[in-house]
Amino acid sequence: MYTDMFGKKRFKLGLHQHTSRSDGKLTPAEVAALYRDCGYDAIALTDHWVYGEADELSGLPILAGAEYHVGFRDAGEGVYHIICLFADYEPKLTRETATAQGILDAIHEAGGIAVLAHPGWSMNTSERVKALRGIDATEIYNTVSNNTRRADSSILVDHYALNGQLFPLIAADDYHNPAYGIPPTSFVMVESEDLSPENLKRAILEKRFYASTGPEIHLSRQGDTMVVDCSPAREVVFESNLVLSPRRATVGENITHAEYPLNENEHFVRAYVTDSEGRQAWSNFVAL
Ligand SMILES: [Zn+2]
Ligand SMILES: [Zn+2]
Repeated sequence: MYTDMFGKKRFKLGLHQHTSRSDGKLTPAEVAALYRDCGYDAIALTDHWVYGEADELSGLPILAGAEYHVGFRDAGEGVYHIICLFADYEPKLTRETATAQGILDAIHEAGGIAVLAHPGWSMNTSERVKALRGIDATEIYNTVSNNTRRADSSILVDHYALNGQLFPLIAADDYHNPAYGIPPTSFVMVESEDLSPENLKRAILEKRFYASTGPEIHLSRQGDTMVVDCSPAREVVFESNLVLSPRRATVGENITHAEYPLNENEHFVRAYVTDSEGRQAWSNFVAL
């Protein structure tokens, strides 16, 4: 448990990890120990087509999860990887006949939420995403996708937002193998009273969290100004539906506060910060 700069209680969660139950290298207990030692409060074990029950391993709370996908190599034919979190029971799915919409429906039927994983890596265009019903959140950053330099899905999530889909934005590792040389990196900091699935689920759907690889970020609206408060950063950037607007970026040393005056016809704003070590944090969208 952590306390943020405004005194709110937050939990550091890893929402996308693989183990030896699917194509991960480490056992579930080894992955749990690794993340425990990096200060995570809980993780979800989201093995491919293997539903992981809520549990406790190596002293770390484990959230119920799985990753279901359709398509294999060619994004032109539609590749969708969908994370199931906080379900009450295993979604009823058959791998051979699954469709992206069927996966989303089955996750909801089981009481879970559906996160579109690594849309940058999967090349999930806004047209394709618009055609699906029931995506509850998406990853804006997926650490392991750095293998193909498509870890950052920022541009795609902005395209989704142009279609009115202001998804909650998650950063996650998609952890697979220590041989990749990537330690636990990405997380979400969720504002919640406790680690109960009900409270965490609600907090994520209500966007009461930020995504990060290190820094802290808080985006709020004060009248006609958007405000970021953050841990010391070298850059704060506000993104919106407007391609041209003044004061989009604040650059300097140890910035902990930045302001962005809203413009006419601005429909959504989000922000991200980069610290002196290149680590980033992403706010959720604010609808205007
Ligand atoms: Zn995946
Ligand atoms: Zn994965």
